[in-house]
Amino acid sequence: MIDRLASLRADVAGRRLTGLLMTYMTNVRYLSGFTGSSGFVLLEPKRATLFTDFRYETQAAEEIEPGVLLHVVADGTWDDLAALLAASPPGRRFGFEAGHLSVAEHERLSAACDSVIWEPTEGLVEGRRAVKDEAELEAIAAAVDLADLVLEGFHGEIRPGVTEFELAAKLEYRLRSAGSDSLPFAPIVAFGERSALPHATPSDRVLNRGELVLLDFGARVDGYCSDMTRVFVVGRAAEWQRELHDSVLAACEAGVAAVSDAATAAGVDAAARDVLAAEGLAERFGHSTGHGVGLDVHEAPRLHRRETGRLEAGNVVTVEPGVYLPGQGGIRIEQVVVVESGGGRVLTRSSPELIEL
Ligand code: ZN
Ligand code: ZN
Repeated sequence: MIDRLASLRADVAGRRLTGLLMTYMTNVRYLSGFTGSSGFVLLEPKRATLFTDFRYETQAAEEIEPGVLLHVVADGTWDDLAALLAASPPGRRFGFEAGHLSVAEHERLSAACDSVIWEPTEGLVEGRRAVKDEAELEAIAAAVDLADLVLEGFHGEIRPGVTEFELAAKLEYRLRSAGSDSLPFAPIVAFGERSALPHATPSDRVLNRGELVLLDFGARVDGYCSDMTRVFVVGRAAEWQRELHDSVLAACEAGVAAVSDAATAAGVDAAARDVLAAEGLAERFGHSTGHGVGLDVHEAPRLHRRETGRLEAGNVVTVEPGVYLPGQGGIRIEQVVVVESGGGRVLTRSSPELIEL
């Protein structure tokens, strides 16, 4: 954590800022160790201060890392910050996280803390979070393993007559029972033609024999997320289901094979997309190929065709091409991959094949 503070300070100084105010709780956690739901961190050249309120006094004191001071807010969020900033010579420039502070909060902050100039910044902490250290990689691998283990024991629950609501509830229960801290997102459980909705929410739709079942879910361990998608058929797969699955699996494998620290995000996206385009399916794959995974389930780097930046060793990304045929059904296959020197290492162990139940 001290390294994280030191390298962020160097970035902040490089932008001719005296300090940085972090209000996004994931970034607050990353830099201070505090896991509560309310607070902010002010980073200055010689200190970093976590501000939180009475509810978190004991928890914050236990959790914060060396190098971070704790300030329990007494008067009002920005008033306490103003008192601390008043000691700083007036006219200094401080950054704030433009993507994570509402316009109303920015106005309150500017009014209360008018001794400094507030400059918008974007992605300073997110850029650092994109490259994981050993402990972070272990936590993500544990979250991936947990989801794999739950899926292995879940096949028996997928049977005709069950509703999406019921199956989603069972999946959530098993993930939490197996030790997931919380869920990174509400599981997607979609049957039949509803699998063509890329972000379907569970409904009272009943599962029938011969239909596709798409499950997209993850677990969270020590704050770190996993994310996986698999597709099943109840009974024997129809020709079109198998062909569609083969195409998406080939695209997924091409995307995974393209992952390395020499690749660009757009290059990985293109590797998967080109396979589907060759089969005339490009128009039915309307989302990006993947996203970074860490403390947030969607974080940098995005595997999008406009992202021309190179991947770095230590990035963790999903590769998740999908094809969606409205009214008929959809297939998506999602793997979690660690970017390494010269290649990618797939963490997800569950078979990506179409499983007939
Ligand atoms: Zn997913
Ligand atoms: Zn995903």
